[in-house]
Amino acid sequence: MEDLIKRAAQDLAEAKNVAALTGAGISVESGIPPFRGKGGLWEKIDPMEYAHIDAFMRDPVKVWNVLIKEMKDIVDQAQPNAAHKGLVRLEKLGKLKTIITQNVDGLHQLAGSTDVIEFHGNFAWQRCMDCDRRLKTRNVDMSQIPPHCECGGIFRPDCVFFGELIPPQHLSRSQLAAAQCDVMLVIGTSAVVQPASYIPVISKEAGARVIEINPERTPLTGAVSDYLITGKAGEVTGRIVAELERLL
Ligand code: NAD
Ligand code: ZN
Repeated sequence: MEDLIKRAAQDLAEAKNVAALTGAGISVESGIPPFRGKGGLWEKIDPMEYAHIDAFMRDPVKVWNVLIKEMKDIVDQAQPNAAHKGLVRLEKLGKLKTIITQNVDGLHQLAGSTDVIEFHGNFAWQRCMDCDRRLKTRNVDMSQIPPHCECGGIFRPDCVFFGELIPPQHLSRSQLAAAQCDVMLVIGTSAVVQPASYIPVISKEAGARVIEINPERTPLTGAVSDYLITGKAGEVTGRIVAELERLL
C-alpha cells in the first residue's frame, strides 16, 4: 500500500485538474452505513422495495418510516471525516476542481469543498409532490408520517430515487468535469449504480489517470482504474495528501 500511496501523490503532484467521484464508502468513517457491502443497509432491506420511486408512490408511509427516517437520523449527526477533509485540502492546494458525489449527506460541503455536484440530490431538503415547494428537512414537521405540506401534498426527499432521472444539468456538468480532468479519484463507490459508474470511464477515455480508493475491488478495478489502493477512504486519502504536501 505504501508504494501506491507514493504513486498517487506523484500523480497528483503532476496533475493540473483533479476530479473526484465519491460514493457511500467515503462517509462510512463518519458513521453512515453504505447500501452495499459489509454492514450495508441492503443486507437488511430490499432496495427495490424502499428506494424505488414506484415504491414511494405506492406506499409513501412505508418508505418514509423505514428508509428515510433511518437515514435521516444517521445523516443529521454525521461529521466529515479525514477523507472529506483531505479533498478540501486538495482543493486548497489548487489541484482538485470538482467533486461529483453520489451521496446525499452533504458532508463534502460541510467539510468546506466548494464545487460539489450532488448527482443524486440531498437529504437536507424536502420537496412537496403537489406544489413543488422546497423546505429544509430540519424545518419539516415530522410528527405525522408522511410529512405534509401546507397545501396538503406529501413531502418527498429532494434526492434521486431508483427509477428517476439524474437532473440533466448535473449530468452534463459531471460529464464535462470527467472529460477535462487529468486525474480522477474514485473513492468509496461500488460503481454499480448507473449512470454514476460511467463517469470514470469518460475520464479514462479522455486520457486521465483513474485512481480507486476502496477496501474492496469493484467492476472498475483492473478494467477502468489504473490502480486500486485497498483501504479505508479517510486513512488512505489523509496519507496521500500528506505525501503530496511533502512533494510540493
Ligand atoms: P454503495 O453502498 O453501493 O457502495 C459502497 C462502497 O464503499 C463499496 O464499494 C464498499 O466497498 C466501499 N466502502 C466501504 N467502506 C469504505 C471505507 N471506509 N472507505 C472507502 N470505501 C468503503 O455506494 P455507492 O456506490 O455510493 O452507491 C449507492 C447509492 O446509495 C448512492 O447513489 C448514494 O446516493 C446512496 N447512499 C448514500 C449515502 C450517503 O449519503 N452517505 C449512504 C448510503 C447510500
Ligand atoms: Zn405543497
